[in-house]
Amino acid sequence: MANNVLRRCKSSVAAASTARASSFAEDPSAKAATATVSFPALFSPLDLGPDIGVLANRALMGSMHTGLEGHTIPSFILPWLMGKDPMHDDDMERMAAYFRERAEGGVGLMVTGGISPNARGIVAPFASKLTNPQEMEGHKVITQAIHSVQVPVGDGSSGQTVPARICMQILHTGRYAYHPFCVSASDTQSPISPFKAKALSTQGVEQTIQDFVNCAVLAKEAGYDGVEIMGSEGYLLTQFLSPRTNHRTDQYGGASFENRARMPLEIVRQTRQAVGKDFILIFRISLLDLVDNALAFEECVALAQQLQDAGVTILNTGIGWHEARVPTIATSVPRGAFGFPTKALKETLGKTLEIPLVATNRINDPTVAERLLTDGTCDMVSMARPFLADAELMKKSREGRPEEINSCIGCNQACLDHVFKAKTASCLVNPRACHETDIIIQELPMEKRKNISVVGAGPAGCAFAVTAAQMGHNVTLYDQADDIGGQFNMAKRIPGKEEFYETLRYFRVQLKKLGVQVKLGTKVTYGQMREEGDAVDKWVVSTGVDPRDPKIPGQDHPKVLTYIDVLRHKKPVGNKVALIGAGGIGFDVSEYLLHWDGKDRTSNEVSVEDFWKEWGIDTAQKERGGLVPEDKQQHHEPKRQLYLLQRKKGKLGKNLGKTTGWIHRATLSKGNVEMIDSATYDSIDENGHLHITRNGKKRVLEVDNVVICAGQVEHKELELSAKEDAALASKVYPIGGAFFAGELDAKRAIDMGTRLAVRIHEPEVVPGKHNFFSSPGPEEKMNQLLQRWM
Ligand code: FAD
Ligand code: NAP
Ligand code: SF4
Repeated sequence: MANNVLRRCKSSVAAASTARASSFAEDPSAKAATATVSFPALFSPLDLGPDIGVLANRALMGSMHTGLEGHTIPSFILPWLMGKDPMHDDDMERMAAYFRERAEGGVGLMVTGGISPNARGIVAPFASKLTNPQEMEGHKVITQAIHSVQVPVGDGSSGQTVPARICMQILHTGRYAYHPFCVSASDTQSPISPFKAKALSTQGVEQTIQDFVNCAVLAKEAGYDGVEIMGSEGYLLTQFLSPRTNHRTDQYGGASFENRARMPLEIVRQTRQAVGKDFILIFRISLLDLVDNALAFEECVALAQQLQDAGVTILNTGIGWHEARVPTIATSVPRGAFGFPTKALKETLGKTLEIPLVATNRINDPTVAERLLTDGTCDMVSMARPFLADAELMKKSREGRPEEINSCIGCNQACLDHVFKAKTASCLVNPRACHETDIIIQELPMEKRKNISVVGAGPAGCAFAVTAAQMGHNVTLYDQADDIGGQFNMAKRIPGKEEFYETLRYFRVQLKKLGVQVKLGTKVTYGQMREEGDAVDKWVVSTGVDPRDPKIPGQDHPKVLTYIDVLRHKKPVGNKVALIGAGGIGFDVSEYLLHWDGKDRTSNEVSVEDFWKEWGIDTAQKERGGLVPEDKQQHHEPKRQLYLLQRKKGKLGKNLGKTTGWIHRATLSKGNVEMIDSATYDSIDENGHLHITRNGKKRVLEVDNVVICAGQVEHKELELSAKEDAALASKVYPIGGAFFAGELDAKRAIDMGTRLAVRIHEPEVVPGKHNFFSSPGPEEKMNQLLQRWM
């Protein structure tokens, strides 16, 4: 079967690639807009043989933990936990709605978040597992919802469709489990876990193999099209495969690769035997561990071949263990930067690789997907977060509208960072993700539509305007600047944040498409608001924030700049700089001053070679785990000497994102930035030097410039004036930074704008009662409780 699959999959990609040439046309206003209008390789069907059939296209929606996977909270606790909250009566309904939208958006194959095959393997207390028929029943809601959707085969021109497909991921977390009963290959503790795992006995290993098989059989009964066996990212099976974590002396461990690979191979063999031929078996193999003493590339190659022989249908790939100190999915990772191990595997195995191989990590755009599919890297592409950001990614690509895609910017702020805080995942650029049953965008009847003016086209104002226009309102959007985007126009200039261009492109395209009247270079005044009178039903004030004044004596010295002077006005900055304030912006400005080389780049222009070099990635994969030895690594020369300061005691950057903060700290520490906490800012003298006191000791930082990044305060001028006016007070709605600046980020700004737009027509939604949130689901509530106790 395998031989035929590959022949079919290769020939269709090759034929499709020559069928239509891609054309690039830069949209000068959109700058980073994707401009390839057809993606023949991405939209070639993949025939998995007569027993399984055809996948509609080459996109696999990769597994993501979202917090919607169900739970194992005892039913008698639920009423107490949830009260009478009708929103979350049934989690599986929420999960079904989430996947159904992605199926309707045209993904060829989807994989659920990880479900454990037994109690020891669950991610965290009360997380989901599939071990018995009762747990299986709930999954039918999902599979039925997905199979009711038809996906066009290929580019849709034949008119053929196939039912959408979904596989369930079987994930045993091993020593990454967030509970004290975790198990692994040996008695070890990962550097990112609070619990030490206990080694499974030989009998325990055999039982775990059975549990995987049982779980796959139950998944088949639940109606899934297949399962994905998670064998990468440092979870249990990787822990068995790797000499780093497998110190066993029985037949499942030790120096011998054959022994270390025995458990995953047994799982695949026995699962295939139990589920038969008509069931997709994906194995997620780690091709680049990015930790010391991990798998050698030759072992990955051998494993791939043996997995194929054991009965795997599709070989998905994984990059980096969770404990790796190399960014693998953050926004600073160039697009497609980790295609190389997949390509190397394909080249090494040549024709002996007879099953489709999937490339992964930072593929967020159909152009990148197309390139990887046509340059011999892979037969399918996995995109996970991009489908959170836009459920219609594939539909828009197929219909030649890629510029309409709401691109994942790799920020992790609402997806992974939420999951690590036990919050239901969502998406910074698409707050509906995982909240499909809660935020419903649909055109209103004519009588409910309003004339709405929005002041400020930052993320909050744009999100509001786009959603309100989708609801059918007549929207006018003003900004005093000559472009939309607000602070995102500064964020996009930070090296490593080039993806932020894409959000601006998305908003620009949508505003135009939806007929929002955009009036740039127009500062709205209180006078204008009054003059407009009844012509405007609602005013939405999204005027953002102003920089906080730190009131340091001498700060009016010409050498003292704000982050706005540096990032927006491009004022010259000297070689020695002190930055006041170490929040997100202080870190970003440091990054900019260390690495900006005089050219703003889009995501397509960043150098992947620089990234590999900077993070010590061994692309030749000579070293186990794929890391260049520390003493041979070459890092960028910092362009400046920086001091980053805060008044608080403790580590700088503590409040940065859970999954990305370490990257910012590592970058600055490689740039030899001196981080100073517990600082009191005494004064700035006539030379522009900063005088501080730290722990009772005075110090002078003889710098060329001081840059102030001391946080922000609401820009409330318009709202406050309007509140004084009886005619306006009842129709002025502040959102985003203008509503509240404390801990404001784009996630909150976009979320608030979107949610208000969905409900602003409702009579009870009046200023002051216009900020909405989703109520937490059972998993989130239970985790909140547990975190309080633990
Ligand atoms: P703003 O973006 O401030 O937009 C307000 C808009 O209102 C502006 O365009 C302004 O010109 C306009 N305006 C004001 N008054 C008027 C008026 N009277 N008439 C017409 N127009 C007016 N957030 C994240 O979540 N993740 C990040 O990684 C991140 N990185 C950042 C990096 C940098 C360097 C900066 C500066 C910010 C970053 N942020 C990030 C913060 C994020 O950009 C802000 O939280 C977000 O932009 C706030 O959105 P907003 O729409 O409320 O306000
Ligand atoms: P911030 O995160 O609130 O940080 C403000 C910094 O200024 C802190 O270090 C604070 O530390 C200091 N500060 C506060 N008041 C001060 C005063 N009176 N004098 C001197 N220093 C003072 O704000 P920000 O850096 O401006 O960022 C704004 C928002 O954008 C943040 O909420 C952030 O979430 C978002 N953002 C996010 C990212 C990201 O990567 N996720 C990147 C950029 C921005 P001390 O009080 O200890 O001095
Ligand atoms: Fe992508 Fe950020 Fe959305 Fe996560 S939150 S899916 S990283 S844009």
